[in-house]
Amino acid sequence: MPKYYGGIEAGGTKFVCAIGNDIGEILEETRFATTSPTETLEKVVVFFEQYLNEFPLESIGIASFGPVDLNPDSATYGYITKTPKPGWSDCDVAGVISRYFGIPIGFDTDVNGALLGEYRWGAAQRIENGIYLTIGTGIGGGAIVGGKLLHGLVHPEMGHMRLHRDIERDPFSGCCPFHEDCFEGLASGIAVRQRWEQKPEALSPDHPAWDLEADYITQALHILICVLSPQRIVLGGGIMNQSQLFPLVRHKVLDSLNGYVKHTAILNQIDTYIVSPGLGNRAGVLGAIALAIEAEKL
Ligand code: ZN
Repeated sequence: MPKYYGGIEAGGTKFVCAIGNDIGEILEETRFATTSPTETLEKVVVFFEQYLNEFPLESIGIASFGPVDLNPDSATYGYITKTPKPGWSDCDVAGVISRYFGIPIGFDTDVNGALLGEYRWGAAQRIENGIYLTIGTGIGGGAIVGGKLLHGLVHPEMGHMRLHRDIERDPFSGCCPFHEDCFEGLASGIAVRQRWEQKPEALSPDHPAWDLEADYITQALHILICVLSPQRIVLGGGIMNQSQLFPLVRHKVLDSLNGYVKHTAILNQIDTYIVSPGLGNRAGVLGAIALAIEAEKL
């Protein structure tokens, strides 16, 4: 008997819902704008409900925008907690779906979901320790350590590592309201737009913005490589659609590490060490399905 799983990519601007199987095929899919929680979650329920006879679900995975409560012992587990998005603060997303369908629910951050999808079917297969960073409007990151998603106290906040800024080269003082000069404050899509007063996608591939961007990404990767010793690093998100960034970042990471981390994966195979997502724009929703598969096992 084939098994079917539901996946919900819960984004701040759009929701993607899909039904998939355990080999990463998507059988049905829909997407709609994120409006109020009641209206949005009702659309989620309607989508899955119409297929329940054809595709009875084992479990549903939710890869959500945050911040989220991932502590299973907490009274607000499965909630989106304090978000600036109107109406969504203290929203019990996982609870609503769980109560309606009565099947196991997997719940995690959007970036952890995407990483799990890449680990199962994409660019992070056949490794036990890897990192996924999404560099877009904001910056988030997840890690798999010893074959398991790293959660810790809450979940990693790789976008908020403090980075060094050369104030002569870059007088822009970072857009993060908490830290100014953190990774997200300096290198997110919002930072690029504010610094150069243009949309990132309007900047030509040889614009100096990209060399500076590659320097900030490199600082973050240097820290992550030293702290977590990943076997592969996947870089996704809208900013990484600037494909010229990949060779720049690889080159700068080699320069920055300066031969210190002695492994052939870095020294000789940097092109397959720092890579783009293997699942492309389906990483999000396939990640949610991967979370469902994990939840079924529990
Ligand atoms: Zn910050």
